[in-house]
Amino acid sequence: MNNRLTGEPAAAPIQSVKGIGPRRAGELAKLNIFTVKDMFYHFPREYLDRSSPVSPFGVASGKAITAVGKVKAVKKGRPGQKPAVTKVALETEGGVFYAVLFNRRYLEKSLKTGMTMLVSGKIENRFGIAELQVQDFDIVNDHITNSSAAALHTGRLVPVYPATAGITQRIIRSTLQVLLEQRLDAIVEFLPDRVMEKYGLMPIKPALRQIHFPDSPEQARQAKKRFAFEELLLFQVQLAYAKSKIARLEKPHVYNNETKLKNKLIACLGFALTGAQRRVLAEIMSDLEGSRPMNRLLQGDVGSGKTLVAVLTLLRAVESGLQGALMAPTEVLAEQHYLALTELLEPLGVRPGFLSGGMPAAKRKALLEELAAGSVRLVVGTQALLQEDVIFNRLGVVVIDEQHRFGVKQRAGLREKGLAPDVLVMTATPIPRTLTLTLYGDLDISIIDQLPPGRQPARTYYVNHRELPGVYEFIRKQVKAGRQAYVVCPLVDESEKMDLQAAVQLYERLKAEELRECRLALLTGRMGGDDKELVMRGFREGSVDVLVATTVIEVGVDVPNANVMVIIDAERFGLSQLHQLRGRVGRGGGQSHCILAARPGTREALQRIKAIKTCQDGFQLAEKDLEIRGPGDVAGVRQSGLPEFKAADLLRDINLLKAAKACAEQLIAADPELKSPQNAGLKRHLQQNWQKTNLYHIG
Ligand code: ADP
Ligand code: MG
Repeated sequence: MNNRLTGEPAAAPIQSVKGIGPRRAGELAKLNIFTVKDMFYHFPREYLDRSSPVSPFGVASGKAITAVGKVKAVKKGRPGQKPAVTKVALETEGGVFYAVLFNRRYLEKSLKTGMTMLVSGKIENRFGIAELQVQDFDIVNDHITNSSAAALHTGRLVPVYPATAGITQRIIRSTLQVLLEQRLDAIVEFLPDRVMEKYGLMPIKPALRQIHFPDSPEQARQAKKRFAFEELLLFQVQLAYAKSKIARLEKPHVYNNETKLKNKLIACLGFALTGAQRRVLAEIMSDLEGSRPMNRLLQGDVGSGKTLVAVLTLLRAVESGLQGALMAPTEVLAEQHYLALTELLEPLGVRPGFLSGGMPAAKRKALLEELAAGSVRLVVGTQALLQEDVIFNRLGVVVIDEQHRFGVKQRAGLREKGLAPDVLVMTATPIPRTLTLTLYGDLDISIIDQLPPGRQPARTYYVNHRELPGVYEFIRKQVKAGRQAYVVCPLVDESEKMDLQAAVQLYERLKAEELRECRLALLTGRMGGDDKELVMRGFREGSVDVLVATTVIEVGVDVPNANVMVIIDAERFGLSQLHQLRGRVGRGGGQSHCILAARPGTREALQRIKAIKTCQDGFQLAEKDLEIRGPGDVAGVRQSGLPEFKAADLLRDINLLKAAKACAEQLIAADPELKSPQNAGLKRHLQQNWQKTNLYHIG
């Protein structure tokens, strides 16, 4: 039965499959499986090799094997017994062994003498008799009903699925078996022939069979490769499409070659731009001078001087009689940028405006009028800048400080304002290359791969909590020598009351005891903006020696005199976060120190702490973070619109990703709207699924 309404048989509800009732459909819904296609695309997590049955005799206890035998007798479980134990005597070459099944009493009625049974599980030798504790079984030859079923759960490479409570591996396997028998025709190949040939991909139907019930490990690998490529290609085609759309826009504004403001700013800085800063600025300026809108990502390690590059970019717009906007993901960050820009640009006589969601209506209205009239040239704000009634007079450049929080979709939203501004996206922390190619695959990329000169990497130590008194002693000494320190407590989530309390308690205790000779202040995310600013000002100006803080100081804080960073419960932070925190010290002269106090309970935590101790390079640490935690956990990547890949593995499939990206770019270059007949299937597939991928609509 097809779902004729949508015209796509694969979109038919799973319940339309014979043998799947409302109850099973409800269970499957828990796994986000609603349609025939969802079920086909529920891929195994791994396979168990149960392909060759062996003799159960003489096998060491504890070893997992698969064996086969004919049912000789069934010893039923006692009523009320928990777990219910059913023992089946199975005759095989060389004798009889016992298969022990737990909580399978429903089987007792259907198990008949003479049936052939395949069993997989661990061997347990009891008084010289082989018992097999059954994990999985198949009745492969049912003499009573005279039906003969293929092995599904044993006797082959058996798929193991990501499952959930209430739905067993057996249910998923048998549902898929039914689907492969009844509904494979609903799935139609949509990859262009040439792509399949060029990349050696298995066609979709055999690939579905082989990914679920592979004939060999090699077949499983080939099937998986096909689906991984498919997934990456679909994603990359959308990015390439979006990129090519932008590249086909004519931008309405032009820049002049005025450099008065720029020269003045550079003269005020008191330092020279690094080579890397100059190189990326040249890349950016060449984009601005081109006739197509800039569409570029700026990456750089913590402290590499991205802000300055952003300011110089915005200034080029101002200098050309255009407007510039700097957009940050949170109010706190936007405010920080606003303060920094105001200070930097003051000598130039350029005063930025500020726009956020929470500002008073009258103030907002006044600013909007100035923006529309063009009398405000530079504006800093949050997503509030994207609201419909924000109208620019002559918008030239938009810089988005990402923090990974604007997704691909929001970036597109900016262009949908009917404008074609030049867009520069900045990431706050380095992210692994595969993620860059995925999340930012629609952008050109510039990397600042050099820190300003004279930076001494912070010495990084790892101590346990018992050693903390010594650490506080060290802080006292540093403060006596005129330096300042941070003590950071984990606050994974602002709503976690316990963590907040721990930070407050630590602050109170340090103030009363270990650090009573120092001037302490507390900074948490819960405090109001004014209070926060007051504390930060105190720390910046030196009237506060030690700042006890939750992770609110992670981003942007810049106090060069601070040279000690103590991180409490460091095992609870991710690598990128630790690196960001460490980046807060080592900005002024002299040696700086980062002390990680931790009780690393898990192997991952220990790995992270080892990595941060030995490595100072944010890009390398990001790769390690990906390795240890997986893509979803790399510094907020989850919020950024990264789809959950089912077959592709962003850690291992870098080459496949590169191939898919190249393939997508070729497809779009040759056929920008995917109009040619050989791309028709691909286009239809994208149109049918674009909502799910949450990216661009290919019209
Ligand atoms: P990021 O945003 O990349 O982490 P920032 O832009 O906050 O880094 O810069 C970190 C610090 O380095 C700031 O105090 C900034 O003034 C300073 N800085 C930037 N560029 C240079 C440079 N070329 N030479 C010396 N210091 C620099
Ligand atoms: Mg910064």
